[in-house]
Amino acid sequence: MHEVSLVREMKRLVEHEAELRQFSRVKSIHIELGSNACVSQDALRFAFESVRSGLLEDTNLDIHTILAKGCCRGCGLSAMMTEHIGVCAACGALILAAGGDEMRITELEVV
Ligand SMILES: [Zn+2]
Repeated sequence: MHEVSLVREMKRLVEHEAELRQFSRVKSIHIELGSNACVSQDALRFAFESVRSGLLEDTNLDIHTILAKGCCRGCGLSAMMTEHIGVCAACGALILAAGGDEMRITELEVV
């Protein structure tokens, strides 16, 4: 479950920011998570519960899903994708997804 490592790294980054910017509590963390990032939202939330202490005691974890995009080379149809490979709905050609593999903290609400 690499989500535990991701959450630990997220906590480390937040603690670093807290030191730099002098805040003591985080109300919420907003993250963008790509649909093809191979990260389970449920596992991420579960792992987040396990690191709740200090700064993150009452923090709300807000996850915004980013879908990958694909463009058919056969007919040019654009599509939002939830898998790495899909089939074009118009012509049946294979479509490779681009993007959707990111995970980033986009906003911290702090006290
Ligand atoms: Zn097509």
